[in-house]
Amino acid sequence: MSNKIQNNMIVTVHYTGTLPDSGEVFDSSEGREPLKFIVGHQQMIPGFERELMGREVGDKIEFTLLPEDAYGDKEEAAIIKIPRAQFGQLEESTSLEVGFQLVAQLPHGPAPFTVIELDEEHITADFNHALAGKSLTFNVEVVALRTATQSEIMHGHVHESECNDGSSDSKSCDKGGCCS
Ligand code: ZN
Repeated sequence: MSNKIQNNMIVTVHYTGTLPDSGEVFDSSEGREPLKFIVGHQQMIPGFERELMGREVGDKIEFTLLPEDAYGDKEEAAIIKIPRAQFGQLEESTSLEVGFQLVAQLPHGPAPFTVIELDEEHITADFNHALAGKSLTFNVEVVALRTATQSEIMHGHVHESECNDGSSDSKSCDKGGCCS
């Protein structure tokens, strides 16, 4: 068995993500359980996996990703003007403001967006990922590494953490029969 990171391995990392321009931390596993994921199944942004390939337990690395290797560029098509009437109840119960982050319930599932403009008739919603169009710097420490099981490879996700932490994922995992 290889001890270097490659596809179909379960990698455990501690990480801190910062915005290179401002130094602002946008996400970190510090003070939490480390992040565990299966390599090669599009669970992570593409550049993150690429930078980890071939690394070993104990490696500490820092890298900066361009937007196309992270959450992509901002797309104009993802900025949509919505008539206020469509907000109905929501608008009555909360006073909307620019900068509010809300979740739209669309046929294919929940879609988070940010309110970027308001006028009397319309709400302009930005459905781009909050980190779209941004370069991201990551400091990563490889904590553990093992080969994925056959069922993990088939399901494309890690089983042990999802099945034990009581998250909503554990339910779908149960349905698939992968936790028994
Ligand atoms: Zn599963």
